[in-house]
Amino acid sequence: MVTHSYFRVRPYVDPMRTEFEELSRRVISSGSISRDVIEPATGETLGTVPESTPDDVAKAVETAREKQAKWAEVPVATRAAIIEQFSEAVLTHREEFLDLLQSETGKSRQTALEELLDVQATCEYAVDYGPRAIADESRKPALSLLSTATVTYEPVGVVGVISPWNYPLNLAMVDAIPALLAGNAVVLKPDEKTPYGALFMAELFEKAGLPDGLFQVVTGDGETVGGTLIDTVDYVSFTGGTETGRAIAERAGRNLIDCSLELGGNNPLIVLDDADVEEAARGAVTACFSNLGQLCLSAERLYVEESVYEDFLAAFINETEELTFGTDNTFEADLGSLIDETQLKRVESHVASARESGATVETGGRARPDVGPYCYAPTILTDVEPDSRVACEETFGPVVSVTPVDSEAEAIEQANDSPYGLNASVWTGDTARGERVARQIDCGTVCVNDGFAVAWSATDAPMGGMGESGIGRRHGPEGIRRYTESRTVAVSKVGPLGLPDQLPTEWVVAGFVGVTRLRRRMKRAIRAIRD
Ligand code: NAD
Repeated sequence: MVTHSYFRVRPYVDPMRTEFEELSRRVISSGSISRDVIEPATGETLGTVPESTPDDVAKAVETAREKQAKWAEVPVATRAAIIEQFSEAVLTHREEFLDLLQSETGKSRQTALEELLDVQATCEYAVDYGPRAIADESRKPALSLLSTATVTYEPVGVVGVISPWNYPLNLAMVDAIPALLAGNAVVLKPDEKTPYGALFMAELFEKAGLPDGLFQVVTGDGETVGGTLIDTVDYVSFTGGTETGRAIAERAGRNLIDCSLELGGNNPLIVLDDADVEEAARGAVTACFSNLGQLCLSAERLYVEESVYEDFLAAFINETEELTFGTDNTFEADLGSLIDETQLKRVESHVASARESGATVETGGRARPDVGPYCYAPTILTDVEPDSRVACEETFGPVVSVTPVDSEAEAIEQANDSPYGLNASVWTGDTARGERVARQIDCGTVCVNDGFAVAWSATDAPMGGMGESGIGRRHGPEGIRRYTESRTVAVSKVGPLGLPDQLPTEWVVAGFVGVTRLRRRMKRAIRAIRD
């Protein structure tokens, strides 16, 4: 048995019980059903987590709603201070954080560290910029000097966060933290495969002094537990697959609540003919194989201009073959495990169907049971048919296709030939050219000379998908304001506004037309002088 995990070998809560059992007690659950959580690196059972019933979910939301009313009255600076404390608690417990993440996801420690750093970045942005994003705003009033219009941003109430397994901590926190900062309560439903990280977050929020009931975790299957959550909360933040996203949007629509949907992608990466191919190849390896491709922003379709195709492909294969596997708790390995057997089968079937339709496997193309039961070698395919599953569907694993293109225009056309629109990457020696190409790609983020980190780490800039990749944006002021209802308070200093009734209406209309035209002429003149 592999005992690499701090969580498994060095109990930090109570030497008499494992930490996982301790965390399980935090689940809001009154029923008798429970579910085993499997450690991907070994295929063994990590622990057993009780499941919440629909009644438990409803009760959790009711409690959250009661507590939220008071939380909304807490000054935003105090809320920010608690979030800072939480982020400090994450740092203090960083070893447990990394061990836990590795245990329940099978990812490499390096990837786990990226999650930890991302939680820090989320907290820092919320603390530094959140209060400004939801501060009252003066807007252009109906009548200058004679009236005012002020917008206030009120918390929506209880936010339901439904999160996936691939980055279970940062993808839950990137939604939960701004919601809390904006004065909401959060009820989080993590994926069934990765409940412990969410429960660990609940523990750290408690340590940070977040009032009881404001952050709760419910567990269980998507449709029952997730569905009840959507029926009871005031806003849903969802990250996961596109088909699930449709079901969630329909249900949220029936309840007339707003939602944000961060969904799948089949992300393109373009190498232009003036790119430094060695650098592009190194960048492509990170863009394609981070977290073994189980990253929504990962590139899966590579389009390379003909003149640099052979050089790029050779360098890309070389760099990919340098990647190392491992499931221990050191920072040595680049790659860990896929999450489970279902994911392994999906990857295998995508590669098999590509092979059947004539694709060439340049490297990889096989499972790595010598490393772990669900490990799969990073795989580069060429000669992939444009209508094959690998080209059209999201694999969400370490499998990519590389295709030569005749021109920049063809690269853009191929990149946009997808119903998805999450993230894209462009490699070039000329960043102005890169920006010009980027503006023609239909994705929520387009990175020049980087795979995804340069956009994701710009926490002030919105992030999300076009087309079937989703609705709404996280990060930036948009990512905080989505958890608020705006209220416009408009004040007249001259009593009720309306048409003057002392004058004949024809005179009023003539006056209105005259004044409007005069105003327009003046604005045109000012614009002409200014330009
Ligand atoms: P999934 O959609 O099956 O599950 C995600 C979450 O939704 C889980 O918590 C699950 O229990 C819950 N769920 C499932 N059915 C539900 C329902 N009917 N009602 C309410 N909740 C429900 O996701 P998956 O396929 O396991 O995860 C991988 C997908 O997530 C990939 O497509 C990936 O691209 C996407 N993803 C997107 C982003 C992003 O930011 N755009 C980030 C990570 C993952």
